[in-house]
Amino acid sequence: MEQDCRLNTKMLHGGSGQGYGNREILPPISQVTAFAYDNMEELEKVFAHKSMGYAYTRIGNPTLAAFESKINELEGGIGAVCCSSGMSAISTALINICSSGDEIIAGSGLYGGTIDLFHDLEKLGIHTVFARTLDRESISRLITPKTRAVFGELISNPSLNVLDISEAAAAAHESGVPLIVDSTTATPYIAAPISFGADIVIHSTSKYINGGGNAIGGIIVDGGRFSWDFERHMALSEFKKYGKRAFLIRLRTDLWENLGGCMAPMNAYLSFIGADTLGLRMERICENADALARALDGEDDITVNYLTLESHPCHRYVDTQLGGHGGGILNFRTGSKERAFKIINSLKYAMIASNIGDLRTLVIHPASTLYIRSGREEMEAAGVFDDTVRVSVGIEDKEDLIADFLRAVRESRVN
Ligand code: PLP
Repeated sequence: MEQDCRLNTKMLHGGSGQGYGNREILPPISQVTAFAYDNMEELEKVFAHKSMGYAYTRIGNPTLAAFESKINELEGGIGAVCCSSGMSAISTALINICSSGDEIIAGSGLYGGTIDLFHDLEKLGIHTVFARTLDRESISRLITPKTRAVFGELISNPSLNVLDISEAAAAAHESGVPLIVDSTTATPYIAAPISFGADIVIHSTSKYINGGGNAIGGIIVDGGRFSWDFERHMALSEFKKYGKRAFLIRLRTDLWENLGGCMAPMNAYLSFIGADTLGLRMERICENADALARALDGEDDITVNYLTLESHPCHRYVDTQLGGHGGGILNFRTGSKERAFKIINSLKYAMIASNIGDLRTLVIHPASTLYIRSGREEMEAAGVFDDTVRVSVGIEDKEDLIADFLRAVRESRVN
């Protein structure tokens, strides 16, 4: 397959979609715990990484490998490891390079679960310093000899701040620190962070990559370009001989196996077939979200937060980094929690559900759900207020979505 073909073609005809044992057009679902061998010598070689093969699903499985290879190809990495969830991918990637006494610099408007995880890591002695914006100046100022990673979301959920990857990567690299990007809300349709300078890319595949709302999962992709300093990144020192591959090799052969957060084979299959239509879905989702945002923006008493609106503070990145797209999430402020609830409750074509990236439009009141355990300051830094409604726009007909949301907003005003 030509390396320079575009996303949809690569998705369907890339190297990852070929070479299954019986010429299947999709990876067979190896829904097994273990793999049996004819003799002990063969299994010994597999355990010693002297021959290719699978032994036990927690340490490797062909259905997982097919999914990993597909996403790795789209992101332009040197290898990927898929995990039981997005949170498992984030925690595994961080613990792969951080130990007690180390520090992480993170953006402040992150997904609430990730912020909670950073608090949990404090109990393991890993301290996170939050930067209001992950720009060059703040990264350079906050990096200390203990910093092991800079972590940000490309399009933060739900605040919709955009990380300037080249700038953040340059600042991190100057001090010998890698940039880890959670690209869940962007997806490879919108941007491939490695091509802008990111070192490690993470997705919660539970969202847009799967798209059908039927499997929790996560993935870590290693860009393979970072020159690890094994004095600073002591957690990788045993893997020094692998040089730029040290992160991936430790992850694959050590930490991922031992933390035990593998993806279930059935989920890898569902995520694989979901990913086949990522390009089509994202095209439609972005078009719908843009149209809905513009329609809602015409209502005087609500404030819309969506990236393609010229008023958005990160609008400039739409063309420079996001391929002209604004993504599938939009938020709007309604004036009060009561009104937010009233609008949400009266929508006909949006499900009230705690997820994003589904085919179906989903809505939620983030302050009373996703941020219920966060302090007000953290919540507001994530762009969430008592009157915020978050919408994860789906692939329905945009005319129906617009009519439904405008009706709900207008009725909430008169009643
Ligand atoms: N990262 C982002 C940006 C998310 O929005 C989420 C979940 O909403 C996660 C990570 C966590 O993913 P998962 O629910 O698959 O663990």
